[in-house]
Amino acid sequence: MNNDKKLIIAIDGFSSCGKSTVAKDLAKKLNYIYIDSGAMYRAVTLFSLKNNIINEQTIDEKKLQSLLNNIKISFKYNTKTGEAETFLNGNNVEDEIRNIEVSENVSPISKIKFVRENLVKQQQELGKNKAIVMDGRDIGTTVFPKADLKIFMTADVDVRAKRRHKELSDKGLNVSIEEIRNNIKNRDNHDQNREISPLKRADDALILDNGYLTKEEQLAWILDKIEL
Ligand code: C5P
Repeated sequence: MNNDKKLIIAIDGFSSCGKSTVAKDLAKKLNYIYIDSGAMYRAVTLFSLKNNIINEQTIDEKKLQSLLNNIKISFKYNTKTGEAETFLNGNNVEDEIRNIEVSENVSPISKIKFVRENLVKQQQELGKNKAIVMDGRDIGTTVFPKADLKIFMTADVDVRAKRRHKELSDKGLNVSIEEIRNNIKNRDNHDQNREISPLKRADDALILDNGYLTKEEQLAWILDKIEL
């Protein structure tokens, strides 16, 4: 495989369908940077929860806009786990941004125009040297409309809820499958129906239904589509 070729690979799709797992594996295999764009929306949401910007599901957009430049998101490589972790203003928030409170508030935050404009700009900057795999909801449609390879992932909602439940219980977080299932459905609904950059398949994205594929099979499927 000729790894000198620098591609932009966009992986979009529904909530909790394993985008980040396959995107990470792919980036490792190709020796590319991996960026989890959802982590950036989650970090803004965590900041908003901690700074009284979200109160009982109401968002103080003025306050968020005035503080937006104080939200510094970065990714640092953890040599122990071999994976990138999300930092918010210098603090490692990798686990905290996955909690159910953040999950329940992230879709309303991610539909705000100035939040999207700010994060999309940062994402485009991160990809300016190519050799990147980025996953999210609008990577192939808005962030990198000219990406070299676009994948749109989907899987049955029950399969997704079960997987997410296992992931959270493995981390010691006790949330019921029903709660997770509702959250996934709600987020998909919000993400597909928002005005700006809704979740949708780019016309030139390949569909990967990974409901019944192993990690290895998914990776092989994508590698097969890359002409290196
Ligand atoms: O990928 P993840 O499930 O962690 O994303 C959390 C939320 O962030 C999504 O439900 C969606 O509302 C938002 N998001 C987005 N655009 C992206 C990535 C995530 O709107 N590119």
